[in-house]
Amino acid sequence: MIKFYNSKVRKKQEFVPLQEQVRLYTCGPTVYDYAHIGNLKTYIFEDVLKRVLLYNGYEVKHVMNITDVGHLASDDDSGEDKVEKKAREEGKTAWDIAEYYTEEFKKDIEKLNIKKPDIFVKATDTIEEQIELIKILEEKGFTYEIEDGIYFDTSKLDSYGEMANLEDIEPGKRVSMKGKKNSTDFALWKFSKPDENRQMEWQSPWGVGFPGWHTECVVMSEKYLGTPFDIHCGGIDHIEIHHPNEIAQAKVAFGENPAKFWMHGEFLTVDNEKMSKSKNNFYALKDLKEMTFSPLAYKYLVLNSHYRSKLNFSNEAMEGAEKSLSKLQNRVADLEVEAGDVSEDYKEKFLKAVNDDLNTPKALEVVWSLLKDDKLEESVKKATILDFDKVLGFELKKIKTVNHSVDSLLIKIEGEEKMPEDIKKITLKRHKLKEQGNYKKADEMRDRINDLGYEIEDIKNGYKLKSIKNG
Ligand code: AMP
Ligand code: ZN
Repeated sequence: MIKFYNSKVRKKQEFVPLQEQVRLYTCGPTVYDYAHIGNLKTYIFEDVLKRVLLYNGYEVKHVMNITDVGHLASDDDSGEDKVEKKAREEGKTAWDIAEYYTEEFKKDIEKLNIKKPDIFVKATDTIEEQIELIKILEEKGFTYEIEDGIYFDTSKLDSYGEMANLEDIEPGKRVSMKGKKNSTDFALWKFSKPDENRQMEWQSPWGVGFPGWHTECVVMSEKYLGTPFDIHCGGIDHIEIHHPNEIAQAKVAFGENPAKFWMHGEFLTVDNEKMSKSKNNFYALKDLKEMTFSPLAYKYLVLNSHYRSKLNFSNEAMEGAEKSLSKLQNRVADLEVEAGDVSEDYKEKFLKAVNDDLNTPKALEVVWSLLKDDKLEESVKKATILDFDKVLGFELKKIKTVNHSVDSLLIKIEGEEKMPEDIKKITLKRHKLKEQGNYKKADEMRDRINDLGYEIEDIKNGYKLKSIKNG
């Protein structure tokens, strides 16, 4: 049995798909900057969710939006559009900014070995459909116009905000009114300001402008998945505003809550404060690289805590994760046998963990007890760990170990069967230089090996070379 925590009812529920294929929608990035590793924690959780469904034998259709318009600097529908603002600051077009950071996002998720959604859809590619949706809301009497745009009247929907803690959204407490009828009302269509010089704007029945960002996800999920679909995910901040606003529009337009399950990942924090661009306490994956941490080590850190727990980021925590991942990779590299049968016993334990609301810390415990189990045959261990990696996604399959004995020196190479000749030569040269005590020159050889995409590590009786081409 699979159980997930459903934010809609605030408890764990058994998950059974509505149709044969599981339909999953995840709120995607706002592409005005690099994703920070807090954002990426959420995408890692969503990827594990998808992998667990696949592991259980389900087919999954996964849609993710790219927010390239309409996400304003403030949650109360005020402030500048994030993409337009960045374009102005960098002297580029808004389209170029969106394109660049979309591609960077795709590279980031690849580095984390996150499976690509089946459909990536840009908000700017569904403007017509968004206008159609707003027209339906208007016809049904749920909209009103004020100076800066068309708004949704949340007081007209009795069930508004069932998932949220509405006390947080009292007038003046968190959201300013700015002419709205109710503090929870939100923009469906914003008018371009005459002095603003927007690059992304469209004609609509209400005037030239752009859609509010809560409308895009309603349209895209309905367009590609239909209503209702199985699971809608995002970070925990979406419980209060973005997701209640999506639900409100879908209920009015399509007559029901669009998703059966709503799942949310907790925040990544730094010094126990939420990691965010506005607080300027964030790191991107490229910053981790500078700190010499690998993307997969970050993934290890994330999986070692539950997705509904806060995770505090620190150098020490990353060092621990990097060590654990290396240990795991080395243990797998040491399993120099053909994979045999998967251990049913361990698989049952692993499934029990991940099917219990994605308990990845528990799943990692199962991994370590498997590797430490002296009674298991190596071939079974290997098959089982590679099977678990379908969920964990540490690319353990790529870790192949081939031994090359050269001049009685053991050179292990990970990741590829065949050792490039030049690497072998430089490794030997470095070895001889070290023997001669010429450490400066030996270090130069190490740099050359790095330049060729490998990392060299001293091991007993020789060296281990690891491909860093993907790092
Ligand atoms: P954005 O690009 O701002 O639309 O955010 C992308 C995703 O990251 C959303 O699902 C957010 O809820 C999530 N998110 C934002 N900050 C954090 C954080 N510090 N930790 C985890 N998830 C976050
Ligand atoms: Zn969304």
